[in-house]
Amino acid sequence: MIIMEIAAEHIKRFKLALRAESLRLTSQRLAVMEDILASGGHRECDDIFLSLREKRIPVSRATIYRTLDILEQVGFVRKLDIGDGRFRYENKLAQSHHDHFICLECGRIIEFVDRGIERRQERLSKEHDFRLIRHVHQLFGICRACQMKKAKRGNGSPEA
Ligand SMILES: [Zn+2]
Ligand SMILES: [Zn+2]
Repeated sequence: MIIMEIAAEHIKRFKLALRAESLRLTSQRLAVMEDILASGGHRECDDIFLSLREKRIPVSRATIYRTLDILEQVGFVRKLDIGDGRFRYENKLAQSHHDHFICLECGRIIEFVDRGIERRQERLSKEHDFRLIRHVHQLFGICRACQMKKAKRGNGSPEA
């Protein structure tokens, strides 16, 4: 099932990356690629597994993980470790660079962009003669909804 048109050039790069790992471009792997590149947000392997199952495309979790790793390698997908042992994946092709606030209570991920932080990181790297390739910026805390829930329960101030 074709959900979206994936650029031929992207399929070609995906194919080459698979070949480098001695893997073939199967219809299952292509379905994983289509699913993640047609979506937004920060999804778990299981979300993709269920989405494919709904479309009646049986793909094992192991294949999904492996495929997502390859997609991360070629830079189509961003892999997030938010510290709860379950990786989140996001479509990188459809989005510009951003960083994340991560709620320790409910796992919610909020995106932000701060040009000042970006520029400062670049300047610092230059000062240290460091060629910056990428960065991961994750701020952990409690989201507004969880703060309100806590306040309602009576232990008002969010503990550090
Ligand atoms: Zn929360
Ligand atoms: Zn994001």
